[in-house]
Amino acid sequence: MLLAGAGVPVRVFERHDRVGGRTSAIETAGFRFDLGPTFFLYPQPLRAIFAAVGRDLDHETKLVKLDPQYRLLFGSGGEISASPNIESLQREVARFSPPDAEAIPRFMAENRTKLALFKPCLESPFSSWRDVVTPRMLRLLPALRPWNSLDAELGRYFRDPRVRLAFAFQSKYLGMSPYKCPSLFSILSFLEYEHGVFHPIGGCSAISEAMERVLGDLGVPIHLNEPIESIQFDGQRATGVVTRSGHYSARAVVVNADFAGAMASLVPDRLRRRWTDKKLAKKQYSCSTFMLYLGVEGRDELPHHNIYLSTDYAGNIDDIERKHVLSDDPSIYVQNACVTDPGLAPEGCSTIYVLAPVTHQHPNVNWQTATQPFREKVLGQLSKLGFADVETRIKVERVITPDDWARHGPIYRGATFNLSHNLGQMLHLRPRNRFEDLESVYLVGGGTHPGSGLPVIFESARITSRLLLEDLGRSPSLVGLDTLAVPAEARG
Ligand SMILES: Cc1cc2nc3c(=O)[nH]c(=O)nc-3n(C[C@H](O)[C@H](O)[C@H](O)COP(=O)(O)OP(=O)(O)OC[C@H]3O[C@@H](n4cnc5c(N)ncnc54)[C@H](O)[C@@H]3O)c2cc1C
Repeated sequence: MLLAGAGVPVRVFERHDRVGGRTSAIETAGFRFDLGPTFFLYPQPLRAIFAAVGRDLDHETKLVKLDPQYRLLFGSGGEISASPNIESLQREVARFSPPDAEAIPRFMAENRTKLALFKPCLESPFSSWRDVVTPRMLRLLPALRPWNSLDAELGRYFRDPRVRLAFAFQSKYLGMSPYKCPSLFSILSFLEYEHGVFHPIGGCSAISEAMERVLGDLGVPIHLNEPIESIQFDGQRATGVVTRSGHYSARAVVVNADFAGAMASLVPDRLRRRWTDKKLAKKQYSCSTFMLYLGVEGRDELPHHNIYLSTDYAGNIDDIERKHVLSDDPSIYVQNACVTDPGLAPEGCSTIYVLAPVTHQHPNVNWQTATQPFREKVLGQLSKLGFADVETRIKVERVITPDDWARHGPIYRGATFNLSHNLGQMLHLRPRNRFEDLESVYLVGGGTHPGSGLPVIFESARITSRLLLEDLGRSPSLVGLDTLAVPAEARG
C-alpha cells in the first residue's frame, strides 16, 4: 500500500489462495476463524498506513474495543477480569494483593515514559551497531534496564507472582518466556491497558482483506496461489523472481515470507554472508503453537478472550523452551469470538479457537503420534475455563501443529513468532529491513526489525518502505513517511 501509494509499480505474489498469511481466515461450513492473531493492539501504525494512501482504517474495518479485554484464570488459584478501566483493574488485583493494586498507576506512568522514549527506535531502521551506540540509546538505558528480565522488572511493582504474570504473559505474543524476555517488553501489557485490545469484526483477517481491497483500488496485481520459487540474482543484486508463470523482473524484491524459511528456500546459500544456512540453524527461535479451531453448537456465555495459565507456569515455559516436551498441564488461550461477533458462525452455533504454546519443531516431539493425545489434553483444559461439554458439540474441527506451520507457512521449524526476541537477535542484530546480505532485497514482517506481532510488523512496513523509496530516489514524503525520520539529536 505504501509503495503503491508513492507511485511505485508493485506486484504481490502469495503462495496461498487468500491474502493475509498468518493473519488470514479459515472459512468452513459457515464458520469463520482467524488462523493466527486474534488480539489487535495499538492500531496507530496501521491507521497511519491507511491514511498514507488516503483511506481511513476505521471506515475500512470495524474495530470493537473489548472490556474486559480478557479473563485470566490461574491454575494456582484465582482469576482476573482484565479491564482497560484502571480502577476496575485495581479492584480485581486488590483481591490478590492490595499493595500490587496500588502500584498499577506507577507501572502505567513509568511505562508511558518508557514507550515514549523507545518509540523512535521502533520506528527507525537499525543498520549497524552505530545506530545502537548513540547518546540517545545510552540515555535510554536507565529507563529500559535491558539487563532485567520482564519478570524481574515487574517485581519492581508487583509482589504476587500471579499479578506479575498478569502483566507478563503477553511476552508469549512474541513467543517468549517472561523469565527470559527483555524487560523492555513490559510495554506490551501497558499498551493493552493504555490503548485497548480490539476485535475487528470478521476477525483480524478482516484487516488483511481490507488491505487487499485497497490494493485493488490502487491497481496492484495480487497473484494468489503463485508461490515465488526463487529470487533471481546478478551477483549479489536481486533482479526479479521466478514463479510457475515465468520470470518477473524487478528493481527490488521485498520479502514478507518467514525470514529463515525464505532464505533457506529462495536464496542460494553461497550468496549469503551473515545469514547462511549454517548460521540460521544456530539462531534461537520462538515457540510454536498447537491450534484447535472448533465450530460448535450453542454459545458459551464467557468472555471473548480467556487465558488459562498453567499451575506451574514456569515449568510449562521450561517444557516449551528448554526441555522441548509437551506439558501435562499446558497453558491455553481460548477465543470465544461470537459473544462479540455472532456473524462468525451459523445461527445457534459459535466458534471456539484454542491456542496452546508448544515447542517449535524438535526431535523430542513426534506430532504424528502426539497430535491425538495432545488434542484430548487441550480439550480437557477447556473445561477448566468453563467451556462445558465442548467435545460433544463439535460440528467442524481443524487442528494445526508445529509441523503444519512448518509445511504450509512455510515457517522455519514451525516457530510461529520468528527468531526469538532476545537482545542478541534484536535491533541491528536482527535481519535488517534493507537486507544486509544482498542488494535490492528488503525484508518486512516478523523476521526483521522491530519484530513479531501485528503493530510492529506494520511498523516494519513503514520502515522498509521508507528505505526502499529513498533507494529508488523517490521522496518518502509522498506517503508521509518522512515524518518517521528520527531527529538528528536522537541519532547522536
Ligand atoms: C497462532 C498465532 C497467534 C498469534 N496471535 C497474535 C495476536 O493475537 N496479536 C498479534 O499482534 N500477533 C499475533 N501473532 C503474530 C502475528 O501473526 C505475526 O507477527 C504476523 O502475522 C506475521 O506476519 P508476517 O507478515 O511476518 O508473516 P505472514 O503473515 O506469515 O506472511 C508471510 C506471507 O508470505 C507468504 N509466502 C511465504 N512464502 C512464499 C513464497 N515463496 N511465495 C509467495 N508467498 C509466500 C505466506 O503465504 C504469507 O502470506 C500470532 C501468530 C500466530 C501464528
